[in-house]
Amino acid sequence: MDMDPKVFVISGPSGAGKGTLTAELLKRVPSLTRSVSATTRKPRTGEVDGTDYFFMSEAEFGKHIENDDFLEWAVVHGNRYGTLKSTIKKELSEGRDVVLVIDVQGATSVKEKMPEAVRIFIEPPSVEELAKRLKLRDTETEAELARRLKNAEMEMLLAKTYDYVVINDDINRAASELVEVVQAERSKN
Ligand code: 5GP
Repeated sequence: MDMDPKVFVISGPSGAGKGTLTAELLKRVPSLTRSVSATTRKPRTGEVDGTDYFFMSEAEFGKHIENDDFLEWAVVHGNRYGTLKSTIKKELSEGRDVVLVIDVQGATSVKEKMPEAVRIFIEPPSVEELAKRLKLRDTETEAELARRLKNAEMEMLLAKTYDYVVINDDINRAASELVEVVQAERSKN
């Protein structure tokens, strides 16, 4: 029996461990693929264009908005990020389940346009733990860190609007829970 490929949306505050958890999920469920987003943020050391993001100028990103190329886009921590329709279409048409790792605004837009998408919220064990992780990551300036923490508190209020909430208290345990969610959803149709 052929099953329709599924869209999974993973959201949560910056520093909750979405990236690490998603990487672990993809390792454990190799048939999943991660959607590569477009952004106007400058690449961090080691990030590769087309793999981590499609890095774009403001002008280029604006052109895509004008052309209605985005499934969703949002301003996150002062930069623009978006999911290109073409990226999702390509994966789905090739029969692959696709994972979007996007912010809460983007997740809301996807819910409106694709109500069948499964939305998963990754929550840090506490705001204190989140602050600690963000500091350890050491990729942001002090001001940027403060901004991300302030956003995190607002984002956490939205957890209850998601289909699933996974608390990232331990990467291994949380990854197993995430795998279970994906498998359960896959076996639904
Ligand atoms: P970072 O700058 O740390 O890579 O990502 C910052 C935030 O942007 C994260 O919360 C991430 O989930 C979000 N983000 C990444 N790609 C997209 C996207 O395509 N759309 C939206 N709405 N948010 C995104």
